[in-house]
Formats: sequence, structure tokens, C-alpha cells
Amino acid sequence: MAHSQQTKDKIRKALMGNKNSAGVIPSEKTRELIRQTKLGSKNPNFGKPSHNRGKPMSAQSRRKLSASRMGQPAWNRGRRGPFKNMNTTGLAKGRGWNRGIRKPEDQCSSPRNARIRRSAEYDLWRRSVFYRDGFKCIWCGTKRELQADHIKPFAYFPELRFAIDNGRTLCKPCHKTTDTYGHKARRFSHLL
Ligand SMILES: [Zn+2]
Repeated sequence: MAHSQQTKDKIRKALMGNKNSAGVIPSEKTRELIRQTKLGSKNPNFGKPSHNRGKPMSAQSRRKLSASRMGQPAWNRGRRGPFKNMNTTGLAKGRGWNRGIRKPEDQCSSPRNARIRRSAEYDLWRRSVFYRDGFKCIWCGTKRELQADHIKPFAYFPELRFAIDNGRTLCKPCHKTTDTYGHKARRFSHLL
């Protein structure tokens, strides 16, 4: 069966990608822009800051954004604590942050101790311990899942937190068998 020219045109339009713009070819300028967005690292703008980086939003944009968020719960709804500069998508969220409910500061998971454990000084201590032990578990010799264990618990011997001699390299499974792992360290709480 042969189609008329008119029917063939109809079919061709129907088969073109975007049904909303069937038959409409974007301008040369628009096509160039579309092409560039698909270049990835070859895009001349790749890696450059966006045009509005660091510039304040216009009052109109701010009103629009505000309106679109009306009725949504505030980002800090139901939370307490020091929220200034808190990164809500980072570490705190990923680790199931304790939503500002403070534990006594002598316990491992308190915000203060958590902050020390993320510090540069702590990182240096940890790497020094690994380095001394040759980057392997001192008990079983594996090089996987290494952790720096505090021989005298972190929580109860604050003065030994950064002592290299108080550290030893253990793999996670070996670390768990120590009698000071996690909450088991609380047996030392009388020392405080
Ligand atoms: Zn081990």
C-alpha cells in the first residue's frame, strides 16, 4: 500500500523525538547550546564556576523560592543543638546523627568526642599508629578494614588520646574482640 506524500509527512512528524515540538527544528544557537551540554569535560564551561556563583539571588527569585517552600517543614524542625554551619547532608546525617540529644561528655558518641575524632590531630595520630605498625593488623596481619585502637580507652583516658604508644593497629574483626570496644569501654568509667 502506498502512502500519499501528505500522509508520509504526517508519519515523519509523528516519529520525531519530541512530540511537543514535532517538526520544529531549534535555532542554530539553541542547537549549539544543546550540543555543548552533552560534551561533559569537553564543554568549554566544564569545571568553571556557574555564572551566578557567589552572587546574591534577585529579590524576585528569593520570593519565588520562598513561596515554593511554604508549608514544608523547616529543615531544622524537631532538632536541637548547634546548627550554625551544620552540614545536614554530610557526616551528621549519614551516621544517623543523634538529633541534638546530648549524652554525657565522657561517652564516646558525644558530639564533643565525635568532633575530636574528626579532627586533623586525630587523623595524624591514627596515621602515625598505622605507619608504625606497617599498615597491618598487629594480631592477624590483614591489611583490610584497619582501625586504630586505643589500648586505654579514648573516652576515659583523655590525656592518652593522642599518645602513639596508646594506639595499635587492628582490623575491624580483631578490634571488636577487644574488651574495650565500643560500649564495653564503660567498665573504665570509674576511673574518671
Ligand atoms: Zn586482625
